[in-house]
Amino acid sequence: MPRVLLTGGSGFIAAHVLDTLLERGFDTVVTVRSEEKGQRILEAHPNTPKEKLSYVVVKDVAQEGAFDEAVKSSPPFDYVLHTASPFHHNVQDPVKDFLDPAVKGTTGILKAIKAYAPTVKRVVITSSFAAIVNPKEHAAVYSEKHWNPVTWEEGMESSQTYRASKSAWEFVEKEKPNFDIATVNPPLVLGPVVHYLNSLDAINTSNNRVSDMVRGKCKEGLPPTGTFLWVDVRDIALAHVRAIEVPEAGGQRFFVVAGEFSNKEIADIVRDSFPELADKLPSKDFPSDKPADLYGHDNSKSIRMLGLQYRSLKESIVDTVKSLLAVGV
Ligand code: NDP
Repeated sequence: MPRVLLTGGSGFIAAHVLDTLLERGFDTVVTVRSEEKGQRILEAHPNTPKEKLSYVVVKDVAQEGAFDEAVKSSPPFDYVLHTASPFHHNVQDPVKDFLDPAVKGTTGILKAIKAYAPTVKRVVITSSFAAIVNPKEHAAVYSEKHWNPVTWEEGMESSQTYRASKSAWEFVEKEKPNFDIATVNPPLVLGPVVHYLNSLDAINTSNNRVSDMVRGKCKEGLPPTGTFLWVDVRDIALAHVRAIEVPEAGGQRFFVVAGEFSNKEIADIVRDSFPELADKLPSKDFPSDKPADLYGHDNSKSIRMLGLQYRSLKESIVDTVKSLLAVGV
């Protein structure tokens, strides 16, 4: 079976990518930041033989040569899925703490593959809608054709993902390695958390709005939705794996988006589906903040080329809440 290196194996998205890879028969090695996290992943897959699933420790993707050893493997790798994203909670200097590491992590792994893993045919990188959206002048309908025009000095989150994916495309153009790349660009990712990586205090950022509702933190009112496009984590996971399975996905960006949402819609689904949580939420007539003239989105390429069938917001939220209740939120 083809062999895959999956970086950031302890992440929210990566945990689902791992399960999708295993379900579809790939032999998988994950990178994690500690032995302890690696062991937790193995323990959560007790029936998976060690030749199908193992881990390697990469403490900091931004360090020079971080991936030089991880990309060497016997048997050698066929594909790499790069989801690890450097993130510091105490950002003092945005360039040094946030932007540099994101770019270094992405170019670093591409350099390591070129130098030490000549059998790798494709690298799929988790990018973001932030690398597509132009907050200063919205497109009428966003698709893979759009690029965020932000500069290094502007913004942080968007600049991070924009720069990292831009430098990946530049690397391929300049270095002409043996592999091609594809990027998966999700907006806000919602969906169930895996029990073995999560606890009350460590719910991934993109599900925070749902866990805050379940915990009764939004009783007096819902916070602004902020971004109005979403996708389920299981669909994003499948997109990563389809991006290695489908030959013509090489060299492509994929805007993987299920649809529009607002915090009000999430609250209504939670109230309807979990009546026992109704007193933790504002009343049903709390207004929606979704603008009537919201930009459009075009996900037809992901449906056509990757064969995605997007889950509904209701299914995603119901499964998210069940998973949060299961870890004690
Ligand atoms: P998580 O925070 O759940 O996962 C991030 C992963 O990266 C973790 O495994 C983390 O390890 C690892 N990591 C972070 N910094 C470093 C570092 N310096 N060196 C090595 N590993 C590191 O995030 P998500 O799964 O939500 O996101 C994954 C990717 O998807 C990111 O690139 C993010 O930008 C992108 N994305 C996510 C969206 C979302 O809504 N979730 C939306 C759009 C894009 P550890 O667990 O040990 O900290």
